[in-house]
Amino acid sequence: MTHPCDALVLGAGINGLATAWQLLRRGVERVVVVEQNPLFHSRGSSHGHTRITRSSYGDPMWVELMLLAHGAEWPALEAEAGTPLRTPRAGCFWGPESGPMTRWLDAVTRVGASVRRLGVAEARGVFPAFRFEEEDLVLRDESAAVIHAAQTLRALAGRVKALGGVIAEGVRVLDLDPRAGHTRVTTSSGVFEAGRVVVTAGPWTAKLLPALQGRLRVTRQSVGYLRFEGDTDGLPPWIYQGHGEDNYYGLPSMGRPGAKVALHRTLGPANDPDDRYDAEPEVWAVMDWARRRFAWTLSGVVGSEACHYTNTHDEVFVLDAAPGLPGVVVGAGFSGHGFKFGPLTGRILAELVMDGVTTVAPFEAHRARFAASSSAG
Ligand SMILES: Cc1cc2nc3c(=O)[nH]c(=O)nc-3n(C[C@H](O)[C@H](O)[C@H](O)COP(=O)(O)OP(=O)(O)OC[C@H]3O[C@@H](n4cnc5c(N)ncnc54)[C@H](O)[C@@H]3O)c2cc1C
Repeated sequence: MTHPCDALVLGAGINGLATAWQLLRRGVERVVVVEQNPLFHSRGSSHGHTRITRSSYGDPMWVELMLLAHGAEWPALEAEAGTPLRTPRAGCFWGPESGPMTRWLDAVTRVGASVRRLGVAEARGVFPAFRFEEEDLVLRDESAAVIHAAQTLRALAGRVKALGGVIAEGVRVLDLDPRAGHTRVTTSSGVFEAGRVVVTAGPWTAKLLPALQGRLRVTRQSVGYLRFEGDTDGLPPWIYQGHGEDNYYGLPSMGRPGAKVALHRTLGPANDPDDRYDAEPEVWAVMDWARRRFAWTLSGVVGSEACHYTNTHDEVFVLDAAPGLPGVVVGAGFSGHGFKFGPLTGRILAELVMDGVTTVAPFEAHRARFAASSSAG
């Protein structure tokens, strides 16, 4: 059987679901999302309860894109879903002044984001959970929030279905074959003839699009849920930016056991997304860091979670036409920071596959950096 459709989106993580939602909002009728796993599975990059959103970045391009995501796309999704998907909470982002934090301060100042620098003494009063050093640069981000990640995926899947989209779960895409005016998409249960295709396959992208093998690198991530003698529900979303790979982040427990704490690691050992692994051993290293940097007493691990990053050399996403596949657009390489952009990334990918150009000015201004061909050279 061959199934015709106007647009096929490959993958039902945050970026695939957001793209399908944005396509349907723009009047594309027959939209199909094809997902190899059951919806809301925990094998890719979008699972887990929470994510950080913020305006604070070390590059004005990201700050501008986040102002748009916070100002337009997230409110639009929450309005359609009829429920808030974020809990606003001032964020704490810090690290040695000799490190990347100086670039962060510069970028948020240049763009005019609602972020301000705290003195170390003031920071100790405002964020008592952490042990700040005299040489630290501390930012308080008023635009930060805790994203309810699992709820967001459910809200997006609900919007896709409500707008007439179809989500085919447990169906793996095996091949993309460009034909005149459409792409023949062969799957584990039938063939689609799609007018347009968007590939948002997360850590599996390079398996499907070998032309991107040199551009994307999958690494495994281990998240710890730690118990502290302090009010972990009241924690801010936070990031510590040290030198090199000394980067940690975390979130409040939000009524669940333990506060989320993890190492942000994009240069770690490469990993095959089809390989499973135990996250717990790597959480022990995170606990050593937490003992040094939290002012509160750490009293144990209550859980761990495995996940994958798909990294590019500079952590800039690939949002572009798929090499050698006319009518196909790819969104990949979200390098451990893509969830907060999800609703906006969906808009960019939907507009790219529809029109080849977008109405997102900060993206268009830096388009070359998101190119599939962009390299470390
Ligand atoms: C531990 C961790 C913490 C993070 N924290 C943050 C944070 O605080 N803030 C933030 O902004 N971002 C954060 N991120 C990053 C963010 O979660 C990811 O960038 C985002 O989830 C990527 O989503 P995706 O839709 O591109 O990929 P995925 O969620 O992996 O979705 C890809 C989907 O494609 C499917 N698929 C693949 N191949 C095929 C095929 N051949 N056929 C059919 N289906 C297929 C997969 O099954 C999968 O469901 C974090 C990531 C991790 C791992």
